[in-house]
Amino acid sequence: MPHRNSIKELASFLSKNAAQQTRSTGKGFAAVFNIATGLAIWCSEAMTLALVLFVAWRHNVRNEAYLYWGLGFLLTGIGFAMIALRGQVPSLVSVEIGNAIALLGQSAWVAGFLALDRKKIEWWALLPPAIWLAGVFLPWVNTDYSNRVVLYNLASATGATALAMAVAAGDMRRERTRIKLMGVFVVQGCLCFGSALTMAVTLPSDIDATNLGGVSAMASAFLLTIAFALTCRLVMERSERHLRAMTLTDSLTGVLNRRGLLGYFEAIQERAHSEQRQVAVILFDLDHFKRVNDRFGHQAGDAVLTAFARMARQYIPNHIFGRMGGEEFAAFAAVSDQMEAEAIAEAIRTEFCRLPVSTGEAIVPVTVSIGIALAASIEANIDKLISAADRALYAAKAAGRNCTVTFGEAEAAAPAPATPSPTAGELVPTIDDQVEALRRMGTLSRAG
Ligand code: GH3
Ligand code: MG
Ligand code: MG
Repeated sequence: MPHRNSIKELASFLSKNAAQQTRSTGKGFAAVFNIATGLAIWCSEAMTLALVLFVAWRHNVRNEAYLYWGLGFLLTGIGFAMIALRGQVPSLVSVEIGNAIALLGQSAWVAGFLALDRKKIEWWALLPPAIWLAGVFLPWVNTDYSNRVVLYNLASATGATALAMAVAAGDMRRERTRIKLMGVFVVQGCLCFGSALTMAVTLPSDIDATNLGGVSAMASAFLLTIAFALTCRLVMERSERHLRAMTLTDSLTGVLNRRGLLGYFEAIQERAHSEQRQVAVILFDLDHFKRVNDRFGHQAGDAVLTAFARMARQYIPNHIFGRMGGEEFAAFAAVSDQMEAEAIAEAIRTEFCRLPVSTGEAIVPVTVSIGIALAASIEANIDKLISAADRALYAAKAAGRNCTVTFGEAEAAAPAPATPSPTAGELVPTIDDQVEALRRMGTLSRAG
C-alpha cells in the first residue's frame, strides 16, 4: 500500500537523520532534541503570535502595548531564525546580529508592558541587546562558544529582570495577575543567571555548553508561554474592569451614574455603623437650568454640568458622588452630625457660585439648591432617605433656591406625603354632584 510505504520511508528517514545528528553533535540534549528544529518551531510560533498581536493592534491602534509585544515576537523570531542558520550564513549575521535581534525582542516586550500602563519607555529596556553587543566583540568571548552562551544568558537574565520591573511598575494591588507574571519573569531571570553562573564556574566543553544552553532555552520558552497566557489574562481582566466601570459612570461628567452611586450605599451604611456615625444623603439640583440652556445653549449647559460635577466630587469624602439624571446630583456620606453634612453641602454651594463657567463669550451665572436627609446607620433605608432628601430639596427651591435645607432623623423617618391621585385637582363629579345635576335637569324640564 503506497500510504503505508510512505510512512515507513518517513520513519526510516527520521531515524537516519537522528543518527546523523547524534554523530555530529555528540550525546546529551543536542542528540535528543535537534536544536535547529527547535529554533525553527519557535520562529514559526513567534511569527504567528506577532501576526495575532499586530492584528489586535490594528483593531485598536491606541493600544501600543500590542504593537510592542508583536514587535517583540517578530524580533525574537527573526533573531532565532538567524541563529538557526549558523554555518550557512556569515558568523557576524548569525551570531553577533542574530542574538542581538533576539535580545532586542525582550526590549520590545518591556516597552509593551510600560505602554500598557501608559508609561514612557525607559532606557533600561535596551539593556539586553546592549550587554550582548558590549561583550560579544571581546576576543575571549567572540572566539569561545561557552563564553558566548554565558554572555547571552546574562543579557537574557537582565531582560527577564527588566520585564519583572516593568510588570511591577503597574498597579499590583488591583491587578493580582501581575504578581504571578512577575514571579514567572523572576524565575526566568534566575534560570538564565543560574545557567550563566554554572557555565562560568564549570567551564564546560562546547557540547556540554550546547546541552546546557538548550535545556535553559527550552525552560525559557516554556516560561514565556506561561507569561504569554498570564499577559492575556491581565489584559482581559483589565478590559472587563474597564467595561464594568463604563456601565457605572456618567458619560458626560465622568462621575458615577445613578446605578454606580446607589451601589455604594451599603458600604457607606456599614462604615457609618462601625464608626458610630449617621448616614447623610445630599441631593443637588441646579437652579433654573432650563434657562441656562435656553440662554447660553445646550453645550454651555453641558459645560456647567461637567464643571459642577468635577468641583463637587472633590468635597465629598471618598468621592461617593454621582449624577442621578439631568441636572440632579447626589452624594452619600458618613457624618458625625447634621452640621458636618451641612458644612459639606454649603462648601459646594458657595464654591459653585464662585465657579467661573465660561462659554467663551460670557460667564454663565448658576446656583444650586441642596436637600439633605440624615438617618442613624442602623435605620438608614436608601429609598426613604432619598425621598426625604428630595422633600428637603423641594423646600430649598420653595425657600428661594441657592440654599440648603436639612431633614434630620425625625423628618427623614416621617412618611412621605401621600402621592396625589392622578385626578387630584381635576373637576371629576361625585355621585352627589351627579344626583344633584339630574334633579336640576328634571326641574328645568318640568318648568319647560
Ligand atoms: P429648578 O430651579 O426648579 O430646578 O428649574 P430647572 O430649570 O433647573 O428645572 P427643570 O426640571 O425645569 O429643567 C431641567 C433642565 O435640565 C431641562 C433639561 O433641558 C436640562 N437638562 C437635562 N439634562 C441635560 C443635559 O445633559 N445637558 C443639558 N445641557 N441640559 C440638560
Ligand atoms: Mg431637576
Ligand atoms: Mg433644576
